[in-house]
Amino acid sequence: MLAVPTTFRVRSFSVVSETGPQAKVEMASSSSKIASASLPKSKTGKNPAPQIKRGQRILTEKPFAFVLKSQYRRERCDNCLEATKVLKCSNCRYVSYCHRSCQMQAWGQHKHECPFLKKVYPRTVPDAARMLCRLILRLEHGGDLIRGYYTEHGSRKFRDLMSHYAEIKNDPMRLEHLDSLHAVLSDMMAESPSTVPNKTELMSIYGRLITNGFNILDAEMNSIATAIYLGVSITDHSCQPNAVATFEGNELHIHAIEDMECLDWSKIFISYIDLLNTPEQRRLDLKEHYYFLCVCTKCTDAKESKEMLAALCPNRNCGVGISVDRTNCPRCDAGISPKLRNAFNEAMTLTQHNLQNMKDVAYLDVCKVCLDKQTGVLHPLNVWYVKTLDAAFEAAIEVGKWTDALDYGQRLLPGFRKYHGPWNPLLGLLHMKLGKIQLYEGHAKEALHHLEEAQRILTVTHGRDHRLLTEQLYLLILQARQEAH
Ligand SMILES: [Zn+2]
Ligand SMILES: [Zn+2]
Ligand SMILES: [Zn+2]
Ligand SMILES: [Zn+2]
Repeated sequence: MLAVPTTFRVRSFSVVSETGPQAKVEMASSSSKIASASLPKSKTGKNPAPQIKRGQRILTEKPFAFVLKSQYRRERCDNCLEATKVLKCSNCRYVSYCHRSCQMQAWGQHKHECPFLKKVYPRTVPDAARMLCRLILRLEHGGDLIRGYYTEHGSRKFRDLMSHYAEIKNDPMRLEHLDSLHAVLSDMMAESPSTVPNKTELMSIYGRLITNGFNILDAEMNSIATAIYLGVSITDHSCQPNAVATFEGNELHIHAIEDMECLDWSKIFISYIDLLNTPEQRRLDLKEHYYFLCVCTKCTDAKESKEMLAALCPNRNCGVGISVDRTNCPRCDAGISPKLRNAFNEAMTLTQHNLQNMKDVAYLDVCKVCLDKQTGVLHPLNVWYVKTLDAAFEAAIEVGKWTDALDYGQRLLPGFRKYHGPWNPLLGLLHMKLGKIQLYEGHAKEALHHLEEAQRILTVTHGRDHRLLTEQLYLLILQARQEAH
């Protein structure tokens, strides 16, 4: 298992040829390099129209190195990552491809690792070890010179990526992980001309991997592969991002989700982490995985944390979120009884405990117990209520309880909109799933509403030509329109 966050940031990837630049940058216009401060005011005195519109793709990049997660290696192509019928590489029998053309395309990089994978077969190589092996081999065969471009002239090489060497050197958990990876690599790569780098060098490669790695997500936002993209590593994090990363196969796309005056990468932010967490938790995640303290407006706003952990005012006609530490509701003055305080603490403890235990698989009955405890006690925008609904929604879909799924999914919308933001792939997908279920249940009108919402959002986050839209969403909309009339 890769000891990296499951929320690997959404940065870039490049399967490039060994020679040319691998990142294709789509400049907004030739003037996109002008800094916003120097933009002239128009005659009316208003700021000129933005050069980059919400939904515009601002970067397309192929990975520098990537590996399919080993759990998928019998069902997905090791090159294009497509889930389809695949055939094994006849030499190592470790990786599989959808077609000979994919195998040929991958051979440039696979040929170096193929003998090592053959040697360990049928054992499974940990994903992080395979990724490190790929990086070592890539760098050994000219990868040091490869650049990923984020503007026409701006580019980054692997060595330009932050390694966080000093922090990792003082992080016992990371050091232990690195030791185990070193042992795997030494075993795999023994008796070959390629050598495992010394510990210092290996740590610098490892550091670049864990702080710049991306999880490649499939259309349903499941993580299927790990990757390093060079150009996009220029992008910093914000809990209130103005751009998102999505994937098509192994290709990374960055879309603007807000209008921008120009393509200025110092002002473009994506989120590296799960935003459905309190500022304290987000800061902890960022510190642990990326070694920095987030000072974005959301993290520095004291209100945000209170809102995310709010109880519901006991006065039913009031309905605001309150802190149980108070004696009265600040809006309606209703008293906060010790009974409410206890019920709140109990619901929070129970929920946190159960969600922690259900990290991998959520059980519908357990979610229901938590939701029962939360009802009338937690505010509907309390992040633990939203998390429970999220788990319950997925669990209900898993067991085909469509009525339950619809109920949870609909209640999930306000929390998703608030915390993930209005232009987030997860919100778009939630609408799409709701539309799909409504359609299945024969409610075409309701289905159409959700599917059109999904289209409005996913067009921005994925682009109208993304396969999620062309192969799924548009067909669902067509069906819903036919059935609604
Ligand atoms: Zn393929
Ligand atoms: Zn092979
Ligand atoms: Zn933040
Ligand atoms: Zn109140």
